[in-house]
Amino acid sequence: MNPFLEELSRELATFRAAGLYRELRHLGSPQSPRIEMNGRPLLNFSSNDYLGLANDPVLKEAACRAIERFGAGAGASRLVCGSMAPHAELESALADFKGTEAALAFSSGYATALGTIGALLGPSDTIVMDKRAHACIIDAAQLCGAKLRIFRHNDVNHLEDILRQIQQRAPGSPGPRHSRTLVVTESVFSMDGDFAPLTAIAELKQRYGFWLMLDEAHATGIYGPHRRGMAEACNVAGQIEVHMGTLSKAIGSSGGFIAGARPLVSLLVNRARSFIYSTAPTPASAAAALAAIRFIQSPSGDDRCQRLWQRVEQLRVEMANRRMTWARNDTIRGCEERQAIIPLIMGDEGKAMRGAETLLCQGFFVPAIRYPTVARGAARLRLTLSAAHTADDVGALLEALEGLETRNPNVQSETPHA
Ligand SMILES: *Cc1c(COP(=O)(O)O)cnc(C)c1O
Repeated sequence: MNPFLEELSRELATFRAAGLYRELRHLGSPQSPRIEMNGRPLLNFSSNDYLGLANDPVLKEAACRAIERFGAGAGASRLVCGSMAPHAELESALADFKGTEAALAFSSGYATALGTIGALLGPSDTIVMDKRAHACIIDAAQLCGAKLRIFRHNDVNHLEDILRQIQQRAPGSPGPRHSRTLVVTESVFSMDGDFAPLTAIAELKQRYGFWLMLDEAHATGIYGPHRRGMAEACNVAGQIEVHMGTLSKAIGSSGGFIAGARPLVSLLVNRARSFIYSTAPTPASAAAALAAIRFIQSPSGDDRCQRLWQRVEQLRVEMANRRMTWARNDTIRGCEERQAIIPLIMGDEGKAMRGAETLLCQGFFVPAIRYPTVARGAARLRLTLSAAHTADDVGALLEALEGLETRNPNVQSETPHA
């Protein structure tokens, strides 16, 4: 073997030894409750397709029509070769949906965070974020060069301590303009399914005057009276400068977006590098997302969401009846209680892998999530429900879960995970 391959093989061996090796599985079917993985039929509890829209005819037909009319590819960045009707219509629908002046679509949620945080902050600024924020926010924070401060997961007191320190340092700070402070959190945490204390965070704004960015990746389309997300459910939307969402989860397509004031969107068009230097979303993905936004706002969308919460309630009640240990009590209760993401905390990485394997043998796909996606020693099976699951699907899963030993999520460690 040559030295390059030798070195890489050594590195991969350490992943294997630590139980952290990852491999792609071949999916031979659409994303739906029933999938074919590596040639085997499985019941799927892994996707973020909470409303079962990814394989819905409404989205597929919209995508096909857009391909017929606008082709398969967007050709280049929108600043170079123009915005197509599906992009403009999607953005106007997103602004309308979120109740903001404007919106901007990006090719992924990851690119949205990277471009937006980089457009708003530079080295003279400070970004303050939750310990368990998604990798795209962590990466964006590092890339933009701002000073990074991290508060303990959902700990508003710790957040306030940090804000107080920033405020005390601020007077006399050098630089061409006053320095900015951006607080970023997720409304629903991707690997825990729990909720940020949005009301309390928004209250801190009066005293500390920071800008607030909220990543609603796992809340868009399923929470709030108009399904706008947790900011709407908690009635704090007016206090958030930067609303972020993805089009890839409950929306069932792909891409990400920012919704907010028109000057924010104009600034992003001028400065967000992941928008400027990346080819526009395909007409098909923009059109599918647009169809999903319209669907979610319709009575059928309401029905679909109700079905999701029925499945969630079924699982919650049954797990409590069976005294399954992970039934959590540490979630921030307030604006919302229902979780479509249910982490079964296993702790040890090897144990999580064996749990996933046991379920797989019984025909269930529930992925093991390990470091660095979550902290070391906080490995888990991450179970998600969808409106497309039937009551029988959930019943079958419950039977299979009963054999698994898990531990209480309250003891989850807080070691860095990125
Ligand atoms: C999935 C996710 C993203 C990234 O979105 P993609 O569209 O998949 O790139 C961003 N933030 C959070 C919290 C997520 O869970």
